[in-house]
Order: sequence, then structure tokens, then C-alpha cells
Amino acid sequence: MEKILDQYYGLSGCQFKKLVGYISTNYRIKCDQGTYLLKVYKDSPEDQEQILAEIEMIQRLDHLDAQSVSTAIPNHTGDKITVLDGHIYRLMSFVEGQFLKEVAPTPAMYTSLGQFMGKIDVKLKGFRNTPIEARKLDWDLQYFQRVPPLTRYVEKPEDRRLVEHFILQWDQHVYPRLEQLRRAIIHNDGNDWNVLIRDGEVKGIIDFGDAVHSPLIHELGITMAYALFDKEDPMKWATYIIRGYHKEYPLLQDELDLLYYIIAGRLVTSICFSSYDKTLQPDNDYITVSQQQVLALLRQWIAIGPVKAKNTFYKAAGFAIDTPLSEEEVLKKRHQVISPILSVSYQRPIHMHSAAFQYMYDAHGRTFLDAYNNIPHAGHQHPRVVAAGQKQMATLNTNTRYLYDQLEAYASKLLAKFPSALSKVYFVNSGSAASDLAVRLAQNFTGHKAMMVMEHGYHGNTRMGIDISHYKYTSRGGKGASDHIIEAPIPGTYRGAFQGAGAGQQYAAQAIARLKVSDNPVAGFIAEPVIGCGGQVPLAPGYLQAIYPAIRAQGGLCISDEVQTGFGRMGSHFWGYEMQGVVPDIVVLGKPMGNGHPMGAVITTDAIAEAFDNGMEFFSSFGGNPVSCAIGSAVLDVIDEEGLQANALSVGNYFMESVRALQSEFPCIGDVRGSGLFTGIEFIKDENLTPDTALASHIKNELRNRHILVSTDGPYDSVIKSKPPLCFTKANVDQVVGEMRDILSENH
Ligand code: PMP
Repeated sequence: MEKILDQYYGLSGCQFKKLVGYISTNYRIKCDQGTYLLKVYKDSPEDQEQILAEIEMIQRLDHLDAQSVSTAIPNHTGDKITVLDGHIYRLMSFVEGQFLKEVAPTPAMYTSLGQFMGKIDVKLKGFRNTPIEARKLDWDLQYFQRVPPLTRYVEKPEDRRLVEHFILQWDQHVYPRLEQLRRAIIHNDGNDWNVLIRDGEVKGIIDFGDAVHSPLIHELGITMAYALFDKEDPMKWATYIIRGYHKEYPLLQDELDLLYYIIAGRLVTSICFSSYDKTLQPDNDYITVSQQQVLALLRQWIAIGPVKAKNTFYKAAGFAIDTPLSEEEVLKKRHQVISPILSVSYQRPIHMHSAAFQYMYDAHGRTFLDAYNNIPHAGHQHPRVVAAGQKQMATLNTNTRYLYDQLEAYASKLLAKFPSALSKVYFVNSGSAASDLAVRLAQNFTGHKAMMVMEHGYHGNTRMGIDISHYKYTSRGGKGASDHIIEAPIPGTYRGAFQGAGAGQQYAAQAIARLKVSDNPVAGFIAEPVIGCGGQVPLAPGYLQAIYPAIRAQGGLCISDEVQTGFGRMGSHFWGYEMQGVVPDIVVLGKPMGNGHPMGAVITTDAIAEAFDNGMEFFSSFGGNPVSCAIGSAVLDVIDEEGLQANALSVGNYFMESVRALQSEFPCIGDVRGSGLFTGIEFIKDENLTPDTALASHIKNELRNRHILVSTDGPYDSVIKSKPPLCFTKANVDQVVGEMRDILSENH
């Protein structure tokens, strides 16, 4: 190499230092004449063409600022590359500076980063170059479709779902608008190891090897993706970069609309390619370490959400932010067409815009941590579930009067979660339709009409549903119990007649006594394993084992309403009844079954199903349709693959432990109970357990004001209920409990 430098470039006394490089071997060389960069490539016509294209591009940027890019140093024949013995030698000026990665960031530096990239793109405006325009690089975001097949290499399911979420968002938001975006030749890799700092500002950039002709906004998105690593408040730093860029090269609103997804797109590309590389080099710890940064930013990105990001980006560029109607106005419009009998949560209602996993974003760009909604069981908009529904919806959606494979496949998959005695399933579209059908099955099988129901229980909004819902028929507007209803006292061990060991049997004995005095033999007994509307009250241990035989002794059937407690939420068990060591005759399913898609089901035995088949057809227009089956099946897959039941157990236990720790500081917390991610916190005024309804309501509303969703319930509305999506994390718990501590401290 010394010889080449001497003969072709007239350089003497050169000392070499090898630098990192991917396609080429790179050297920093210090010679008598100065410092240079030498890149050595294996020769090929394609590489020659690309290198010359890069050189042409850099020439365009020459005199951007002094020493901002590595310009080509021609050899003695005037050529910008020297091709010799199967190698290409490319001598360039050396750009001094520290990499962005190596310095402490400042607002001025980040503004200059945006400005610098903006200036480059201004210089490149109108630049045409056939080899660059013909390139199809994996790292060019316009070919993002190459990334999804690599998601299977992302090792951890919790990382994979994040990656899949942003791929889905890309498909929804970016892909349809890609062709309309302004395009240009861009550097395409303004990452923190390519950008150089001098005197606290960005003054240079290296490595034009990724240059492509692509939407202009990709330039900014890629630069930001790396610059935002390890920042507590990424939006603050994003603002500086955008301001800087916009000053040099005014951005369009259309571009800023997509920037949130484009930044995520680059992060996802990085994770997918590095996960694939990791399979080739399993011992390369560098890959793992750098992935952690990317994943951490993706997790922050989910917590920020698209609305807040867009508003921040608009503001940084000086565009007016759309102001949505106020909540009062939205509510007023709603009440013009929807009866106020449909209640709205919180003193200040929330106008939702979108959601992802355990986060919900309102129209104003506020992110709410969802510690309440159990329907999006696997997480709001879970990408696997959405994709399953979208695909099936585009293929076939029909009803059970035709044969299609999805019905049997899903039914078998679902029934595999039950003991073999429970072997038939009816699909419907809500928990209400399911409990209504469950009662019909029981009444048909037994020939009896009476139902034993749980105090404070809720099972549905149909006429039959209300009949068996003490929670409804005894509360405001209720007409009291119908003649065929026998009530079982709620077997809670915090309040009520019995507390210690044996309480379950004692409560059961009380209920059995009522059964015996009733003139009507029961068709069935329906209860939830943890009574949600009763204030998250777990049935006292041993209760079902004691009461089920008594119901069956009268010829009645035992129904477990697993609408809220099913599908792994309990943590220790997949179904709530398993906690009591019993097998019901009928199980009612709903809410989480379709992760938000309206699904319900009744599971029962062969004998009960056979008796129901009495000549009258059972038909549900939508129950068991192929789209619902595909969605339900995806939900089961996600629960298993992501270990959501185990997560419910560990995070749920952590939640309860954390709140119990609060309990010692705040005696107003009377009881902390539940199972897995299905918890209740009961508030009291004194040692007589006087319910503190006002305090529970205050905490609920204050948490809402601090962007955390929970609700209150129970006979006195004094219990805070939490039943979040099962992807909830311990960090989420810390946020909830931390805010709760603050609110309680302020209240004292
Ligand atoms: N059973 C229980 C235990 C429920 O919580 C609910 C709904 N809150 C239902 C049945 C009725 O389900 P849906 O609202 O889907 O009709």
C-alpha cells in the first residue's frame, strides 16, 4: 500500500491505522503531506460503478462546509480510484471529529444535526445518478416489505410483538402513501457512528455507501432513529432535530404525518436484520447490546404513541396542530344519537383515538396506561390477532350452515384447553348471548326453571341475563328477583359472615339451606370464580367443591361464567373454576376470547348438547364465522407463545405485593385481593370496614387525570378494579402504584 500511495498519489512517510468498515477495508493514514482516508475494496465492475456514483454524490456536497465530507483525492492520472491487482484503492480527505455516539448531547448539537442533514438534502435536490437510483438496498425503507419475513428471528415474543406492531402500522399508514412522498437521493444512514461533531456541533458525515433514491423524509427518520437512543424524553430531542432540518429544508405536513412510523420502521429494520445476523453469529455480544438500545426506544415509542408524536413534530416545524372537539362537545354530539343509558367512564370522559398493547392514545395525544380493560387480553391491536382477522376477512366470511375448516380447527383448539368431559362448544357473539344460552341449556337438560345466582353477580344484558344478574335487578332501575331466582350469599372472606378456614364450606352451607327451602328444584347455578361486579371477590376456598354436589343432587347443572376470569388471566390457572378444583357442566366465555372482536361461547358436555338437539335448530348468524374463528385461534396462539398466563401470575403477584406494601402506610386500603391480573383494592373509612366510596372514586378519577385507567365497582362502589391486558409489565405496575401512593399522600 505504501508503494501505491507513493507511486499513484505521491505520498510519503505514511502510517496506517485500520478503521471499522463493512464493504471495504478502511485505513486512516498519516503521511508527510497530511492525513487521509484510504478505502480498499475487492474489485468488481458493480463496485466500481457504485464507488464512482458515491464520489459524484460527494462532489455535489463539496464545499458544504470546510471538512464536512471525505472528498476524493485523484491519483496522478487524475482518476478518483486506482484499480490494481483485483483491488480498488480510493483515497479521500479525512474528516476530523468525534462521532455523535461518543459525545454528550446538547440541544445545540441536536439542532445542528437537523440543520446539517437538511443542508445535505438541499444540496442533493435535483441530483440524478443512475447507479444510485437503480439500487435496491435492504436498508432502503421503501423496500420495507423485505423486513416482515425476518420477524421470526426476533427471539423474545415480547420484542417480536412490538416489531410486528410497527410493521402492521407501516402497512396501514406509510405504505399507501409512499408513492406520493417527495423523493430524492439521500445519504440514508445518518446514524450516530456516521455523524461527526466538532466544537459541539455536527460538522461532518461519512459513509455514503447506503445512498439511495427514496422518499426524502426517510433521511430525517433514519437520522432521528439513532439520535434518539438512550434519551429520557425522546420528544424533546426530536424537536431540536426537526427544527434544525426544517430551517434548512422545509418539511411538508404529509411527511411529518408519517415520521413516527418511519422512525419505528428503521428501528424495526435494524432489529430484524440484527436478529437474523445473530443466528449466524450467536456469540456476538455486540449485536445483543446494540439491540437493547433499539428495543428500549421502540418501547418508549409505544408509550409515546402516534398522536403525541405527530403533534410534537408539527409543533417543532411550526405547523398548527389539529384541535379535536372538547370531550364535552363530543359527548353532546353522542347524546344526540345515543341514549345516556350508555354510561361514560370518569368525571372527565376520554376521547380515544388509537391504542397499542397496554396503551391507549386519546385524540389530544395523551397516552393512557390501560390498567383496566380486560377485553384486549393480549394487548390492544395485537398485530397477530389483527393480521389473522384481516386475512380471513379478505378470504371468506360466512356462517355455520356451510362447511369451512376454521370452525372445527378453532373449536378443537379451544376445547383442548378444557377437561375431556367438556367436549362441545356453541359459538355466539357476546358474553350475554353465551350466558343466555347456558341457562337455556340447563333448563332444557333438567326440565327445571329455577336458577341459583350469586349475590352481586353479572352475566349479561339480555332479558334472561338480567334475570340472573343480582347486580342488575337489585340496583337502580332493577325490578328485584324473579320468582325462579334463588340467591347465594357472596362468599367473600373480607366482608360477610365467614372469614377463616372453612369459610367456603360455611357459605356453601348457607346457600344449600336456601336451595332446600325453595319449592323449585334448580336448573342450574351460575357464578364467576372471582365476582367482578361484586368488587373482585374471589369465592372462598372450597366453596364450589361444597356447593356443586348440592346443585347436582337436585338434578341441576353447574355453570362457571369465565367471561372475565378465563384465558389465563388468573395466572395460576387457565380457567377460574380450576382454582376451586371442580369441573363445571357448562362454561360461559366472552370478552377476551377475540381480543376485542365480539365473540362468546358456551362449552358443555356431550350429554347436555345431545339433549339440546331436540329438533329446534340452533343458529347464530355470526357465531363461529370463519373470521371470528381465525381471530379466536390467533388469541389462543398468542397466549401460549407469549407466555401470557405466566406473565399474569408474576406481574399480578407483583401488583398485589406492591399494593399490600402501600396498605401498611395507608390504612384506608382495607383489602387487596384477586388472582393474577384480576385484582381489587377495597377502600374503607375505619376499622368497622365502613366503605369509602368517595375515596375510591377520587383515586379512580385522579389516576385518570394522571393517565392511568382503572375503574370502581362492588356493592358500595368502593373497590378499585384492575384487569389490564396480559402484556402488562412490572414497570407498568410501578407506575400505577407510584401514582396511587402520590394520590393517597396528597389526600392525607
Ligand atoms: N358475564 C360477565 C361475568 C361479564 O362481566 C359480562 C360483561 N361485563 C357478561 C357476562 C356479558 O358479556 P357481554 O357484555 O359481552 O354481553
